[in-house]
Amino acid sequence: MNDYDMGGRLVAPGELPQDSVEENSLRPKTLEDYIGQERVKENLRVYLEAAKLRGEPMDHVLLYGPPGLGKTTLAGIVAQEMGVQIRITSGPAIEKPGDLAALLTNLQEGDVLFIDEIHRLSRQVEEVLYPALEDFALDIMIGKGPAAQSIRINLPRFTLIGATTRAGQLTGPLRDRFGVLLKLELYSPDELARIIRRSAGILDQPCTPEGALELARCSRGTPRVANRLLKRVRDFAVVLGDGTIDEASAKLALKRMDIDRLGLDELDRSLLRAVIELYGGGPVGLDTLAAALGEEAVTLEDVCEPYLMQMGFLTRTPRGRCVTRLAYQHLGMTPPADPKKPGSDGQLSLFD
Ligand code: ADP
Repeated sequence: MNDYDMGGRLVAPGELPQDSVEENSLRPKTLEDYIGQERVKENLRVYLEAAKLRGEPMDHVLLYGPPGLGKTTLAGIVAQEMGVQIRITSGPAIEKPGDLAALLTNLQEGDVLFIDEIHRLSRQVEEVLYPALEDFALDIMIGKGPAAQSIRINLPRFTLIGATTRAGQLTGPLRDRFGVLLKLELYSPDELARIIRRSAGILDQPCTPEGALELARCSRGTPRVANRLLKRVRDFAVVLGDGTIDEASAKLALKRMDIDRLGLDELDRSLLRAVIELYGGGPVGLDTLAAALGEEAVTLEDVCEPYLMQMGFLTRTPRGRCVTRLAYQHLGMTPPADPKKPGSDGQLSLFD
């Protein structure tokens, strides 16, 4: 789980409580099964092969990208391919240096330790992690005052896989200790359609290619959202149709769920509308916008914005967020005339 307040949004990429059980059954177990992210996979294949040839654990890996893109899944695949165990934890769950020490001393040679939201590790915990990553050792202080002594405990060699939605928030020293940095990108509708058909197969749910593509287009580039939509649309297809997810039942279900044809939900549309109606199309600062919408800034930044930017509806400028003409068009609003264009009604602004 992470700390986004999703308010139960169907198209929010963060994990919801109901996701975790079925999510595991849908997780690809091998690189072959992992759809998309071709560049990441190609590189990972080389690193895995090289580590196996050397008979050593793989170098520490940092995976970054928006939530729901398959970071945990990929960590599981690395462990599986290396034939080792994986331990899964998260930055906020490791409260004290002792918690980390307990985790590390329980690892077996070669194991993978996966730390989700690694940017949220406390400073003190991070300091313990440095020697563990570099020398596979723990430095522990025993006693207090002048009698205090530092002793070093050797650890099994392991691979740390860190995941973060915000690589920029990692401290320099921590980032430098990862040998491999892999950035996950949003998925294309074709890739998401393949993921949906694969998941439908596992869930024993008939789904036509057109139905899968319809859902894929509304999944905001995110497999977790795609799988979640698939499960909800299944209910509509069973109750209102013949049980098969085809184009018509997918469209009907999406409409009922208030998700528009490009996958935007009410929060996305409110965000765009607020920039237009309250701030003349922008620029507006993220915190101001979050306050206007009554949302957490982090939710807007990690959940709404990556997709709105990918769709070309929103831009980030040094002065704040701006909406584009496309956003006006999508909401059925008229974009303001461009003052710099000859033939438009405005004059050249002195302040541009
Ligand atoms: P993250 O750790 O980045 O938040 P997860 O690894 O938990 O994301 O992935 C969320 C869900 O999406 C998983 O249940 C998995 O089934 C699915 N998924 C993610 N990436 C892929 C992929 N490349 N191919 C197929 N399914 C995927």
